[in-house]
Amino acid sequence: LFDVSGAKHWIVRLNQKLQEQKKYLTSLDQAIGDGDHGLNMARGFQEVVLKIHDTEYKDLGTFFKDVGMTLILKVGGASGPLYGTAFLKFSMELKEKKEINGIELGEALSAALEGIRSRGRAQLGDKTIVDVWEPVVDLMMSEGENLNPDELIRLANEKMEDTKDMEAKKGRAAYLGKRSIGHIDPGATSSMYLFEALAEVLK
Ligand code: ADP
Ligand code: MG
Ligand code: MG
Repeated sequence: LFDVSGAKHWIVRLNQKLQEQKKYLTSLDQAIGDGDHGLNMARGFQEVVLKIHDTEYKDLGTFFKDVGMTLILKVGGASGPLYGTAFLKFSMELKEKKEINGIELGEALSAALEGIRSRGRAQLGDKTIVDVWEPVVDLMMSEGENLNPDELIRLANEKMEDTKDMEAKKGRAAYLGKRSIGHIDPGATSSMYLFEALAEVLK
């Protein structure tokens, strides 16, 4: 079961990864974007962690609402509104819930993915965060309570790697056209960390 304590561990773990990988994410974005993805994510999640450390949360809905609002307010660029919307949609599915099972977690993440899709209009194969989110959410929905966290980590990494051969169709990288091919997408990489951190908490 996933509760507020697990949720806090997820976000704190994700922040650790983002701080550790800040330079790497920046180098990925330097190749096909404007070089700020590491900074955007590291700054945004640092703010999120400060916010959640100072607050007692009685349910998952209010917790993830704070995560989403902080990201929207503190992170610029494409990624702030996209991740912010994802966590806000996620929180709406979890209103007043103190703990959820694997099936409910998959359903709430599916709502978060819908938020990303309606905000960014990216399709599978466009070389964006959707290329990691969609297959991972599909796996969580189909496995439910039987989800193997190691399989989730493996799939997220594979799907991130697969963005290397894609031509970007959305975001700044799309301006490069075919020259975006041959580079892993920065957002797909930060999304991999997000699911890796979640899987580590579910273990
Ligand atoms: P910016 O491009 O504004 O500098 P970031 O560098 O923080 O913002 O984020 C770039 C990442 O955002 C990309 O690597 C991509 O994964 C993701 N992204 C950009 N546009 C979209 C979109 N329309 N839908 C989904 N993800 C997107
Ligand atoms: Mg950028
Ligand atoms: Mg930018």
